[in-house]
Amino acid sequence: MKTVTDYFGSMVFDDRVMKANLSAKVYASLKKTIDEGAQLDIGVANAVADAMKDWALSKGATHFTHWFQPLTGITAEKHDSFISPSPDGGVIMEFSGKELIKGEPDASSFPSGGLRATFEARGYTAWDPTSYAFIKGKTLCIPTAFCSYGGHALDKKTPLLRSMEALNKQALRILRLFGNDTAKCVRSSVGPEQEYFLITKEMYDARPDLRYTGRTLFGAKPSKGQEMDDHYFGVIKPRVAAYMEELNEELWKLGIMAKTEHNEVAPAQHELAPIYTTTNVATDHNQLTMEIMQKVAAKHGLVCLLHEKPFAGVNGSGKHNNWSISTDNGQNLLSPGDTPYENAQFLLFLCAVIKAVDDYQDLLRISVATAGNDHRLGANEAPPAVVSMFLGDELNAVLEAIENDTPYHGAEKTQMKLGVDVLPKFNRDTTDRNRTSPFAFTGNKFEFRMLGSSNSIACANIMLNSAVAESLKIYADRLEKADDFESTLHEMIKKTIKDHRRIIFNGNGYDDSWIKEATEVRGLLNYRTTADCMPHLLDNKNVEMLTSHKVFTVEELRSRCEIMLENYCKTVTIEAHTMIDMAKTQIAPAVRRFAADTAKDVSAKLALDASLPCGYEKKLVARLSALAESIAEKVEALEGAMISLHDADDVIAESAQIRDVVLPKMCELRVACDEAETITAKSYWPFPTYGDILFSVR
Ligand code: ADP
Ligand code: MG
Repeated sequence: MKTVTDYFGSMVFDDRVMKANLSAKVYASLKKTIDEGAQLDIGVANAVADAMKDWALSKGATHFTHWFQPLTGITAEKHDSFISPSPDGGVIMEFSGKELIKGEPDASSFPSGGLRATFEARGYTAWDPTSYAFIKGKTLCIPTAFCSYGGHALDKKTPLLRSMEALNKQALRILRLFGNDTAKCVRSSVGPEQEYFLITKEMYDARPDLRYTGRTLFGAKPSKGQEMDDHYFGVIKPRVAAYMEELNEELWKLGIMAKTEHNEVAPAQHELAPIYTTTNVATDHNQLTMEIMQKVAAKHGLVCLLHEKPFAGVNGSGKHNNWSISTDNGQNLLSPGDTPYENAQFLLFLCAVIKAVDDYQDLLRISVATAGNDHRLGANEAPPAVVSMFLGDELNAVLEAIENDTPYHGAEKTQMKLGVDVLPKFNRDTTDRNRTSPFAFTGNKFEFRMLGSSNSIACANIMLNSAVAESLKIYADRLEKADDFESTLHEMIKKTIKDHRRIIFNGNGYDDSWIKEATEVRGLLNYRTTADCMPHLLDNKNVEMLTSHKVFTVEELRSRCEIMLENYCKTVTIEAHTMIDMAKTQIAPAVRRFAADTAKDVSAKLALDASLPCGYEKKLVARLSALAESIAEKVEALEGAMISLHDADDVIAESAQIRDVVLPKMCELRVACDEAETITAKSYWPFPTYGDILFSVR
């Protein structure tokens, strides 16, 4: 039997393959490009392409594609085969350095938010050598960035790479100030925990809402939901176990370090977590993971739902973005060190994150904003839409002592003086207890928990990297000019704690009283919906910060704001139309038929014996008829709201109408239909119920 170590990464053109298949000179040159971003000359590119092609052919590949991440949030690929005609009428297999480095997909149908005028419909893709090429099916996939000919980023990878560079640059300045001359680069790394639902294909096929929108738009609460807490970490059912086994195998072949898997809180909900890696690789891997989760499910007669809120009243799915920054020689900059000096450095990086999260709460909220995630944030299962940070009691006590120049009552009960005192080692157990915080320190990393399960992790990490780079830049500017390094450092840390204390909250983030305190006392932002937050992407302070670090151009930001709002409007519009359709053609007829049949039964009964009681039937027919009326009215109201969307002047106005008119009308229609479900005989109901779906996998 083949063991995992035999096939792990077998479909990846990784370092092992490069070493074995490239000449020493080509390998060294490619390594320099990967590690230091050095330009690759065409001779080297040709040699790499040749080796890549031979390797891919030996694995049965026939095609290659530049694999990229357009602003649709999913990945895109356009396959070209390796074949090229040979003079004798046959074919040869070809792949050049030029084809490796640059591609020109006909990209006019990808969203560009006005960035690409129609006359320059084509964009180009450029190889990202820092993420290994891999084989998927019979295709060699080359991870690439996607730009317009004007040089504007049309994808998520380009700004992510730029944000990593911004963070690298500023973090290195700080490290040099602390006397570190050896680190060559600083990178952020991420381990994203991915939640998902598994249901049977029969259930999925029977629900138009799931098929068209990825979530149920109707469905009364089942008799049994998640109230018993019997699913979380429960025994994994054989069918799910078989799925997870194959999923792991497929991921491992692609070099994705799938590590942990367990059942989640809701019935049919599960989680998969990989071992963390460099942010851009983690992003590529997470996109691949989501794709393969769905593919493998299909092979098992299952469907993997990645929507943030597939079922109302049942926990939704998120993605925890575990994030830290470390040097190329392996020092985690968010880990408290062993010496007082290292501790001072740790505290400065910690403060940089605190300042970043407070100053750019809006950007973090924006980075996770989608119509789907709006249902989840603040719904008592996920962090609220208010961004705050959890640091844990120990670290909080340290910060308090620094802020107030008071003794730190830790293990040693000494006055905290930076650069002199040793910090306690923070125990993971004491830092990871708060599961309700949107942004929690977990011992040596932060866990950003607001991401939705279907979000690309690129957006959150672009904002996080950039905002922290900005804090570090402000610190470095001051420290480089300081006469007395230590006292300036101490003052700066103290000031950060004072100025940004409001963002630190160690209590229960799910509590309503917290939202009141956060917004009314602390002045934190509470953007409940995508329509609320997205326009703030273009606030001056955000544009200034993101452009000054060269993460986005102004045009790119404008285009993104527009595309994200368009996505929001389109998503809800499709949902509304699906609801109208299901209500009109499936639910209303079922309710009407059941009412009519019941009424017929009453006549039959009375014909048999006019004295038979039929109060129950009469009441039922009355209620069903009333609900049918109500459903018809609500459908009409929603149809009206959809028509009035055409009057909106721009996408901002349209998204506001969606939020204020369309979504509430959808809710009203749903309430009437869900009540009808509870009194309509099951045999009449036109599609599977929540109970059927949630307990379908056995
Ligand atoms: P949980 O949050 O479920 O208790 P863990 O804390 O063990 O799980 O791990 C969560 C994720 O955090 C994993 O993907 C892990 O690889 C990742 N992780 C651990 N250390 C780091 C780090 N230094 N940087 C980024 N991610 C990390
Ligand atoms: Mg976690």
